[in-house]
Amino acid sequence: MSTAAFDYHRPASIDEAIQLLQQHGEDAKLLAGGHSLVPAMKLRLATTANLIDIGHLDALKYIREDGNALAIGAATTHWEIESSDLVKEKAPLLAQTAAVIGDLQVRNKGTIGGSLAHADPAADYPAAILATEAQICARGADGERTINAADYFVDLYLTSLQADEIITEIRVPLQAANAGSAYVKFPHPASRFAVVGCAAVVTRDGDTCQDVKVGFTGIANAAFRDAGVEDELRGKVVNETSIAAAAAKAAEGVEFLSDAFAGEDYRRHLAQVFAKRALLQAAGV
Ligand code: FAD
Repeated sequence: MSTAAFDYHRPASIDEAIQLLQQHGEDAKLLAGGHSLVPAMKLRLATTANLIDIGHLDALKYIREDGNALAIGAATTHWEIESSDLVKEKAPLLAQTAAVIGDLQVRNKGTIGGSLAHADPAADYPAAILATEAQICARGADGERTINAADYFVDLYLTSLQADEIITEIRVPLQAANAGSAYVKFPHPASRFAVVGCAAVVTRDGDTCQDVKVGFTGIANAAFRDAGVEDELRGKVVNETSIAAAAAKAAEGVEFLSDAFAGEDYRRHLAQVFAKRALLQAAGV
């Protein structure tokens, strides 16, 4: 199936892209890696009269250390994040997450900004973005703003990004020396999207869990932090027993997604299993 007709724009800068967004309003969409938008356009689930290509902009392609965070340009591909020594060293959870997205072709074209803007409920990054307490920087006609991960994911394919805003940068706090992290998922056998994905960051003070952050994707309309799991483990001695008790609290009170592949009960079971795996790995138990 082919897309409906559209005009293709190739702005030379972020500012020009913002001007084009303003000029065409609801008749425009940004194009980054095209690995979510183009399939949707081919299926006519999405149409647009104007496609504004930002995938080639060097100003959106970088990974650098900036103060206490790793700054990642929005058009940085999953492969660039997965293979970056800097990301592996300073924010390993992001590299680990990027490495299990789709297949190599998807990772070569898909971008972190595109994934976060699309906000597929089964996308992988959202769990890691929440667990690292990353920030999403956006620029629009009214200027720049920074959105905390906790305020970003709103509902099914819905974020707090405005229609005329471009994600420019993702800021991921550097992982502390006494912290460990892990992202594990149960991939859908066809698409590799997360049926359930769990990201965990565990900060230890000797044997004790000083702090823990857990993000889930795939389970509900939007990715979420799991305070129930975190509260159960924080302050406890970290071992298999305490982690199992925390994982048993996974996704309490959450309205589960349910589909032909995985119903609510199965997803609930997977949430507990993958919370336990992520926490064990992150805590180094
Ligand atoms: P595009 O498709 O170009 O754009 C997606 C949306 O984001 C569009 O609405 C676009 O307007 C908007 N957008 C893009 N960039 C920006 C920006 N900087 N600011 C604001 N809006 C922007 N993802 C997973 O997480 N896990 C998987 O296992 C997985 N498997 C996949 C398997 C297949 C076969 C395919 C085709 C995709 C899969 N994906 C998976 C999705 C993939 O990661 C996409 O690349 C990603 O979701 C979208 O990124 P993109 O750069 O391709 O965005």
